[in-house]
Amino acid sequence: MSLNLSLLEICYLIASVTFVIGLKFMGNPKTARRGNLIGAFGMTVAIIGTVVLHDQKVPPIIYGLIVLAIFIGTIIGWLTAKKVAMTKMPELVSLFNGMGGACAALISLIEYPHMQHETGSMVAVLAGLVIGSVSFSGSMIAFLKLNGTLNKALRIPAYNIINTLIMAGLFIWVVLMIIMPGFDSALNLYLLLFFALMYGVLFVIPIGGADMPVVISLLNSFTGLAAAFGGFLYGNKAMLTGGILVGSAGTLLTLVMCKAMNRPLSNVIFGAFGGSGADTGSGAEGAGGSVKDISTTDLAVLMNYSKKVIIVPGYGLAVAQAQHVIHEIELLLESRGVDVKYAIHPVAGRMPGHMNVLLAESSVDYDKLLEMEEINPEFSSTDVVLVVGANDVVNPAAKTDPSSPIYGMPILEVNQAAHIIVNKRSMNAGYAGIDNPLFYDPKTSMLFGDAKTVLTALANELKAL
Ligand code: NDP
Repeated sequence: MSLNLSLLEICYLIASVTFVIGLKFMGNPKTARRGNLIGAFGMTVAIIGTVVLHDQKVPPIIYGLIVLAIFIGTIIGWLTAKKVAMTKMPELVSLFNGMGGACAALISLIEYPHMQHETGSMVAVLAGLVIGSVSFSGSMIAFLKLNGTLNKALRIPAYNIINTLIMAGLFIWVVLMIIMPGFDSALNLYLLLFFALMYGVLFVIPIGGADMPVVISLLNSFTGLAAAFGGFLYGNKAMLTGGILVGSAGTLLTLVMCKAMNRPLSNVIFGAFGGSGADTGSGAEGAGGSVKDISTTDLAVLMNYSKKVIIVPGYGLAVAQAQHVIHEIELLLESRGVDVKYAIHPVAGRMPGHMNVLLAESSVDYDKLLEMEEINPEFSSTDVVLVVGANDVVNPAAKTDPSSPIYGMPILEVNQAAHIIVNKRSMNAGYAGIDNPLFYDPKTSMLFGDAKTVLTALANELKAL
């Protein structure tokens, strides 16, 4: 092996190790940013190593094109990631994930004519093509659903039978291309590409908007797998390790999210949950009863004289960007001797860890963020629970109403507290599109209005006391 290739192997080794370390660091909000930078450093080493140290004869124009592509990609990626609102993060992830899938599929398309058609390579190239294409078209549909362009879950009759047949068809087609002489033509390769893209669309289209983050995480694992096949094809260890890590992390995340919602993955894929699509702001359905509201002045007094307050952040807190003012309220209450904690539901918001990231932005102490299992026993000894822009994650119907689409989902048991205050703008439903009996609980008072506006007023009232 030439010196260059040995150095390249070392670059890939560095990249693989940094991916593992980076992922480990991302497991904790305190070190997540560093983890991301470590992974990015490894990826940069791998890219520069590949461009500089390879042993192929390459015309100079190719280097120009590579630098141009990296430049354009970096600018677009940097600007979009900088500009994107936290609530739009799942959209961005689906878009970037789709690009990863497209890359894996393109590698297969480009390499197919140049490769030996022996079993190992054929499996890698065809699996990369199919999985990458499904991930690409599926992610694009998920993106359109999340940004509201496609806000209906479209279900053709017997869609899951049709989808299963197409999936089986794709599998058989791949096997035939590998084992049947003459079946490995370019035309058959493009037909495979077409049906894989179609399958991605049909797979995601019937799934409800509320389940999109789960689907994106699943598609993410597909992209990882497709990239791993690319790594296998090229004998590229960095690509292989990176792909396997993305594949397994995506799979684990998918399962963790399903567990947090207490729904099997099959229910996410074939079920009708959250079919209303994104947060359309449609009115709450069902006869709820009457609600009472509370003014910020009365709430400030109530909280000021409480011993223990728990704040429950939800999607609305993120939309209103009220993370700084909620932190200010926490500090004000603490200065008066009130014990303040935050209750974090695993699927509060629109992506895993959404609330942790949001509250970290306003420097809330991590030790004050308590996971659902830890905080649930504490509600019964709490004077005031302040629910800010959360709805589904505090909906008692999940425990009491077997006909509810969220029945069985573990919730934050806020109705155990002495006083429940719910801040939201209206009586509209949350993501699952269902009414919430908590609002009609005699212990509940509604604090209507945009979270940032209302909480700013509350902070001012507290300061005046
Ligand atoms: P929900 O979507 O249930 O409710 C959010 C509430 O915030 C709405 O009812 C809305 O009411 C209110 N709101 C919106 N804007 C504002 C604002 N500016 N100020 C105050 N309130 C506002 O959120 P939850 O966090 O409780 O639940 C998350 C949902 O997302 C769950 O159904 C979960 O399963 C789903 N999900 C989450 C995933 C994740 O990874 N986190 C993954 C998959 C699904 P109004 O319009 O009246 O203001």
